[in-house]
Amino acid sequence: ATPAATMVGTSIGAQHGVLFEGGDVLERVRDTDAVVFDKTGTLTRGEMTLTDAVPISPAPDGAVPAGEDELEPTDEAERAAGAEYAEGLGDATERLLAAAATAERGSEHPIAEAVVAGARERGVEPAELQVLQNVSGKGIRARTEHGTVVVGKPELLREEEVAPEPGLERMRELESEGKTAMLVALDGELLGVLAVADEVRESAVTAVEALHERGIVVHMITGDNERTARAVADRVGIEPGNVRAGVLPEDKADAVEAIQSDGSRAMMVGDGINDAPALAAAFVGVAIGSGTDVAIEAADVTLMRSDPEDVVKAINVSEGTLAKIK
Ligand code: ADP
Ligand code: MG
Repeated sequence: ATPAATMVGTSIGAQHGVLFEGGDVLERVRDTDAVVFDKTGTLTRGEMTLTDAVPISPAPDGAVPAGEDELEPTDEAERAAGAEYAEGLGDATERLLAAAATAERGSEHPIAEAVVAGARERGVEPAELQVLQNVSGKGIRARTEHGTVVVGKPELLREEEVAPEPGLERMRELESEGKTAMLVALDGELLGVLAVADEVRESAVTAVEALHERGIVVHMITGDNERTARAVADRVGIEPGNVRAGVLPEDKADAVEAIQSDGSRAMMVGDGINDAPALAAAFVGVAIGSGTDVAIEAADVTLMRSDPEDVVKAINVSEGTLAKIK
C-alpha cells in the first residue's frame, strides 16, 4: 500500500474500532482466504455460567448420601454412618461443589470463575486452597482443606489414577448440548460432573455467513472437546470438517500451520494468552479487544468492539482502501 492508502485504511478502520498495526497489514487482510476462529471468548462471549452439578460417586461404605431417600439405611450402624456423612460433608452435590470451588478459586480460567460463582449461588462457600497446579489444556490439580482435588478432562483423572467411566455418559450428554463438562475427584474418588455454558455471540453467526458468502473458508480451533466444539460450530455455521478440538495451548500454532499447509492464507482470530502463538503463526493475527494483552500484542489487527463481525469489516476496509487509493 502507498503511505496514503495505509493512512486512510488505518483511519477508517479506527473509526469502526478495527485497529490495523504495521505497514502491510491491509494487504494481508485483503488477501486472506481462510479465517480460523478460537471458540471460547471469540465465537462465544467467554462468560461462563455453571449449569449442572451432578454427583456420581456412591457414598463411603455404609453411608447414604443425603437426598437419596430410596436407599434407606437398614440398620442402626448404617444409619449413623449416613447421618455423619450427610452432616460432616454436606450432601453429595454440596460435596462436589465445595471440592471443585475450593480448587478453582485459585485458577483464572473462565471455567474457574463460573464454578466458584455457581457454588456460592447454591450456598456453598469455597474452603481453603493450599496449592494449585494448572494442567495446561486439561484442568487443575489442587491441595485443599478438603483433600486433593482434580477438576478437568477424563484423561487428567486417568493420569491421577481415578477411573472417569462412571461420569462419561453424563458428560457426553452435557457436551452434546454445547456445554463444557468436567469431572471432579477428591482424594482419588470420583465425586461427579460439572458443566458450564457459554453464550454464542449472535454476531458470530452473521460473521461466518458473510465470510462464506465471500468464499472464505471458516475454521474453528479449541482446547475444548470434540462434542462441545461441534455443537458450537453447528450453531454458528462452521462445517464439522473444519473443527479442530482438543488442541492443547502449545499446539494451537501448529494447528494454524496445518490449515495453511495447502497454501491457504489464514487469519487467526483469538482472545487468550493461549492464542498468541497461533496469532503469530497465522498470515494475519486478529485479537478480540476484550481479550488478554498478550493476544493483542501478538496480533496485527485488534477488534475493539470484540465483535466477530468486525472481521468482515476489516476485510471490507482493506479491500476498499487498497482498490481506491494507489
Ligand atoms: P480454550 O481453547 O477453549 O480456551 P483451554 O485450553 O483453556 O481452552 O482449556 C481446554 C479444556 O481444559 C477446557 O475445555 C477444560 O475441559 C479444561 N480446563 C482448562 N482449565 C480448566 C479449569 N480451570 N478447570 C477445569 N477444567 C479446565
Ligand atoms: Mg479463548
